[in-house]
Amino acid sequence: MAKLTDDQLAQLKALLQRRYLELREEIRGELERSGDERYADLAGAVADPGDDSVADLLVDLNAALVDRQVNEMREVEAALKRMADLDFGDCIDCGGEIGFDRLMAYPTAQRCVRCQSLHEKTYSHEPNPTL
Ligand SMILES: [Zn+2]
Repeated sequence: MAKLTDDQLAQLKALLQRRYLELREEIRGELERSGDERYADLAGAVADPGDDSVADLLVDLNAALVDRQVNEMREVEAALKRMADLDFGDCIDCGGEIGFDRLMAYPTAQRCVRCQSLHEKTYSHEPNPTL
């Protein structure tokens, strides 16, 4: 566990929790909007109201709309779990400290700046690394 003070940890935890609630609101908002407006448009465009491809279309639409938020929400959850496991703030590659400033900017960061840029160089040409 990185050497973060209780105060620093409390700040980071508050940041993560606030982001989590924001994401939850964003997802709810997106779904509500697509439910109210897009669904009405889709339903209006289909002659047969029993055509269940509208529902299929809507599910795909929703998934794409909230995909980014859902992924980020998972990252926030994982960061909060690392915090609970006293595993937070350590780089998963070199074991060094990620650093408070970087964590305040990216509380879900799992690597220090050096390892993150190495990681991005290594995997940027390879979408499915096999190690
Ligand atoms: Zn590192």
